[in-house]
Amino acid sequence: MTETRPRLWILLLASLSISACQPSTQDASPGDAANPADLVLQGGKFFTVDEAQVWAEAVAIKDGRFVYVGDNTGVQGFVGPDTDRHDLGGKLAIPGLVDSHTHPGRMGRGGGVSVPVGSGPRASLPRGGSKEEIVAAVEAYAQANPDLAWIEMGSWSADLYGVAGPHRRDLDRVVPDRPVMLGSVHSVWVNSKALEMMRVDSNTPDPAPGLSFFVRDADGEPTGWIKEFAAWPNAQHFAAVDPESNKEGIVTFLEYLSGHGVTSLLDAGNQNYHDLAYSLLAELEAAGRLPVRLEGSYHIYLPDRVPDAIEELQRLRRTYGGERLRFNTIKIHFDGTNEIRTGAVLEPFSDDPGNRGTTLLDTGQLRDFIVQLHEARIDLHLHIVGDRGVRIALDAVEAARRLVDGELYPRVTLSHLDIIDTADYPRFKQLGVIANYTPQWHGLGDRLPLTAATLGPRFERMLLVQPLLDDGAVVTFSSDVTSLRAMERANPYLGMQIGHNRQYHQQGEAAPIRLPMTERLDLEDLVKGYTLNGAYQLRMDDQLGSIQVGKLADLVVLDRNLFEIDRYEIHEVRPEAVIMEGEIIRGSLDGGAELRP
Ligand SMILES: [Zn+2]
Repeated sequence: MTETRPRLWILLLASLSISACQPSTQDASPGDAANPADLVLQGGKFFTVDEAQVWAEAVAIKDGRFVYVGDNTGVQGFVGPDTDRHDLGGKLAIPGLVDSHTHPGRMGRGGGVSVPVGSGPRASLPRGGSKEEIVAAVEAYAQANPDLAWIEMGSWSADLYGVAGPHRRDLDRVVPDRPVMLGSVHSVWVNSKALEMMRVDSNTPDPAPGLSFFVRDADGEPTGWIKEFAAWPNAQHFAAVDPESNKEGIVTFLEYLSGHGVTSLLDAGNQNYHDLAYSLLAELEAAGRLPVRLEGSYHIYLPDRVPDAIEELQRLRRTYGGERLRFNTIKIHFDGTNEIRTGAVLEPFSDDPGNRGTTLLDTGQLRDFIVQLHEARIDLHLHIVGDRGVRIALDAVEAARRLVDGELYPRVTLSHLDIIDTADYPRFKQLGVIANYTPQWHGLGDRLPLTAATLGPRFERMLLVQPLLDDGAVVTFSSDVTSLRAMERANPYLGMQIGHNRQYHQQGEAAPIRLPMTERLDLEDLVKGYTLNGAYQLRMDDQLGSIQVGKLADLVVLDRNLFEIDRYEIHEVRPEAVIMEGEIIRGSLDGGAELRP
């Protein structure tokens, strides 16, 4: 800090002497035509997300920042001979969007959440198929692909097999000589050959008992059902990732997001592939091909990664950090998934008495880690699905606040939040904890999800966001996409529609509604969660997130007004133009290029 101060003074003095030579610049008042803008947009409907002035007709942009936000008359004072000027013809414009939890680094990489390997193309299992149909599909696929080293298929539903889960012997019967890996929600079902290659047997310790572990039979032998991240330490020695396809996948995904108006995002975790993902992203930035600001993170998914995490994040920052690629966040997979009963819940899972799941750290351990983050000036992002996980995290933040001098530095975000105990809702606002959701999950399918069985009556109060909004807590929204196969789910207008309707979009109005109706969120709150609040989570709210004089000029001009169209058509809205720091990076402002993918 002291080292840079003299330089700062020199810069300040230099800028003072420059303005002294140019009195007209120094005297420039808003609307002074002697200080014209680079870009003027008028005749639009700007939803600014700035409480002081929610709507505006016109903006002026100079040197990448807004210098005027107001009406059509006022903006004329910023027009000079070289100003690029456009009339938006009444179109809606919103701030550049922030996707506050997604996974660009994982794109094109193969493998899943639970295992680092993939055999290449993953074949589908019969949707809703019986146990016999699934095993028959594996047998047929293995026979049709004799040269595949790994048989990788997905996905199967854990409710077919009850609490004990599936067994490797069913797969051994049809494929005894090659590894088989069947993906599902945060778990895999493998055969004996796969366990052998992963070097997993009855002596292998569980990396995080009760959270990331090998389901075992009465003799302690792994059954072949591997939950959460237990396979990672043992499977990495044969994990082969093709950097080229990873890079291609990252580019495809970022172009998709940018084409939809996302200008900033949080990368919420790359397991062991930080260096691979971030070297590719740094390469993109160096080549001028990184179309978004990307907040990178260090990912703690097993407890043994806690001690080095801060140092690792700082190393990533030193090695790969740039202008757009930044590193200020540590991500922890704090509990698991309620679908496979690894979430940390206050009351036992309804179909598994005695099992309340568990967290990666206890309250004291998380408190101490937060204090370390405070000292290192780093933010924290926690994956949490269970109400006990939420309670522990809030308790840890509360305890850490008491331990530090002054304000607690880390902005702590709890992500996913399937269930929150009623008593804990007000604590988000009280403790300044951010709540992150992926509204793309907030609809209801024809078939009740697995969580209806594991959570029981608690299913009725899943994903309740409105109480947090009513309290004035900071709520952010994101796409949480982990593979290219699901890329279209990263469409933020899809998230807005599902958050607004609590219905999936495919069936339109006829789709079942996830009750209660009071959880149909206002579009204004959704846009704020995708912009200003997202910028706050990424610690960029002083620079971004609203259309406000002095802020960086990130803008999305939309082809349709999402506040005025049919509530079932919002997912079809697309940008006509995306502007980042005053530059038109996508489409055009004259109704030219189409951005529909
Ligand atoms: Zn995620």
